[in-house]
Amino acid sequence: MKRQVAVIGLGRFGYGVAETLVKEGCEVLAIDTDPEKVQSISDLATFAVQCDATDEKALKAISAQNVDVAVVSIGENIEASILIVQTLKEMGVKQIIAKGVTAQHGKILKNLGVTEVIFPERDAAIRLAQRLISPNVLEYLELSPGFSVEELTVPERMSGLRLREAKIRETYNVNIIGIRKKVCRMVKGRMTTEEVFNVTPALDDVIEKEDILVLVGRQEDLNRLTKSE
Ligand code: ATP
Repeated sequence: MKRQVAVIGLGRFGYGVAETLVKEGCEVLAIDTDPEKVQSISDLATFAVQCDATDEKALKAISAQNVDVAVVSIGENIEASILIVQTLKEMGVKQIIAKGVTAQHGKILKNLGVTEVIFPERDAAIRLAQRLISPNVLEYLELSPGFSVEELTVPERMSGLRLREAKIRETYNVNIIGIRKKVCRMVKGRMTTEEVFNVTPALDDVIEKEDILVLVGRQEDLNRLTKSE
């Protein structure tokens, strides 16, 4: 059965979430008070409904309690965001992901028992700053405060070494969870380049200049490694 997701609030963020979920094969119940927003997504979403999501009766009428996940994407009206989360909790929606605007807003949402609070603008800003500070960090994902997964180009001094020789874990206290490699292959008489993702790196695997390392660890340890070139 397809995963059913309610997206409440169809601003830029909510719309983007709903659009991607539909493309990925989910059933999306898109909700907004604004008829234009509802109209703009009506061709795309499985169901597009104009209603005030603070109204429990209205949510029940469209069986919002049956979704697997609800995404609450309302920033401007913090009161509405809080009321909607509370209503969804009371209706028994198990997984609720809500957009936070301020730290205080996020704290209230957490206290109400949401599964996850996300701060899209803050997260995008951090990611951009990280990229500017360390251009060799290609991707960055915070797992929990102070811990991240990063994709990193291979530091020059490690190029050509076996993992055991690079001593990344011993020196920096971070784990390599994957190595992405570009591999050249002859296919039907033509040389093609494809990417191979080694997700079980072994100590004898060699890391090469063009590789990308996927690392997990404490942020300060990852920073030591990325700044160590
Ligand atoms: P963006 O994602 O574009 O940055 P935003 O976080 O500023 O947007 P808002 O402008 O606060 O988001 O609102 C997002 C949407 O939520 C708007 O389309 C608004 O009509 C809708 N909305 C606000 N209150 C409710 C409500 N009680 N029920 C349903 N939808 C609502």
